[in-house]
Amino acid sequence: MALKKITIAIDGHSSTGKSTMAKALARRIGYAYVDTGAMYRAVTLFALRNKLIKGEKVDEKALKEHLKRGDIMITFRPTKDGKSVTVLNGKNVERYIRSMRVSNVVSIIAAIGFVRKAMVKQQQAMGKDKGVVMDGRDIGTVVFPDAEMKVFATASAEVRAQRRFDELRAKGDTTTTFEEVLENVTERDRIDSTRKESPLRQAEDAVVLDNSHLSIEDQNEWLYQLYLSRVRS
Ligand code: C5P
Repeated sequence: MALKKITIAIDGHSSTGKSTMAKALARRIGYAYVDTGAMYRAVTLFALRNKLIKGEKVDEKALKEHLKRGDIMITFRPTKDGKSVTVLNGKNVERYIRSMRVSNVVSIIAAIGFVRKAMVKQQQAMGKDKGVVMDGRDIGTVVFPDAEMKVFATASAEVRAQRRFDELRAKGDTTTTFEEVLENVTERDRIDSTRKESPLRQAEDAVVLDNSHLSIEDQNEWLYQLYLSRVRS
């Protein structure tokens, strides 16, 4: 008997390795994977490139117009090595959306109601046939409140900042300090949790995963077992 297809929502704090675990699970069970943070990052990159952000102020009117006109097209493209990259208006922007320049303002863009509305609509379309693992902040609460499997990932701020810091170093960023990353991680959590529009919160039926001291292998196995329990129930 074929296993039933479900929707898997992985939400949680910044830099908890949500995308790493979501990707691994999706690959293992043959599901599609959608990184919704990458979508907010791509909108932010567009806004920065078009000079729509000055300090912490966003030219919302212009951004709304661009979204409405379809000037901000975000898709994902599979690569030869089985990964997926974020594509903004036909160009691979994966490298740019992970920069500190984008990380520093993405939560401001993601707090704007019409931006969220546009992204949520696309995410719901991407997951309409189930068989999808989606990671973000509001997947289990807003995008797919009926998801059969919901995980809320968290870890101490220091552990999370260290992970992001190591990632930046590995990508050749030699200037950003650990303290700057720690501040960014905690500030994004603060903005994400206190914003008016779909704040980051744990869905009542989500299972909490604190991975401060878990190896990636143990975490992947834990997720896989949770998946099995959901498709068998
Ligand atoms: O997941 P990632 O850290 O790449 O997400 C970047 C930012 O995008 C988050 O800090 C948050 O402000 C925003 N985001 C969101 N809702 C989502 C995914 C990401 O508000 N579903």
